[in-house]
Amino acid sequence: MLNIVLFGPPGAGKGTQAVKLVEKYKLVHLSTGDIFRANIKGGTELGKLAKNYMNAGNLVPDEVTIGMLESEVNKQTNSKGFIFDGFPRTTAQAQALDKFLSGKTLSISLTLALEVDEEELTKRIILRGKESGRADDQNESIVRNRVKEYSNKTSPLKEFYKKQNKLRTVNGIGSIDEIFEKLCKEIDNGGK
Ligand code: AMP
Repeated sequence: MLNIVLFGPPGAGKGTQAVKLVEKYKLVHLSTGDIFRANIKGGTELGKLAKNYMNAGNLVPDEVTIGMLESEVNKQTNSKGFIFDGFPRTTAQAQALDKFLSGKTLSISLTLALEVDEEELTKRIILRGKESGRADDQNESIVRNRVKEYSNKTSPLKEFYKKQNKLRTVNGIGSIDEIFEKLCKEIDNGGK
């Protein structure tokens, strides 16, 4: 199984690249942000719980997010692998994911980190907000808070995966196809 963590700050292009990677490698795409948004839309208890955190640009608590992710993985019985997009975002989530996968004799194959500087990120997200209507994309102070959450809680995970020799960083500035090609190269090198 090919299990990839697509890693990077909000606005780095994870969602865009995930769609292309899923098509090429026939993987199951699990985006925790998309799952939360679907739950908000559907008015579920999970959605109600996540909504206030998301609208403020804060992370949803670990126990909620981890439980949700594990149940989504468990729903897939015939998958060739997963792309985890927007998960893990904290050390506790990364540890929980390793433990959960190893219980299934699985593991993360590779963590692909898209790197984009903060000014470019803020610009991209505000532009996306105009197109997508996402509430958390439209307000600059919320966007800055999301980038701050990333720097404080998520960015340290690079070290976590580096220690496991699974981290590959890719410059997230360039055309969609150029970046896609670089990501594919890393995957095809099989983490070597
Ligand atoms: P995204 O679509 O990945 O930018 O996520 C949008 C929002 O969903 C984030 O700002 C968080 O509030 C929430 N979220 C998504 N994934 C996670 C996660 N792994 N842990 C905590 N909160 C998350």
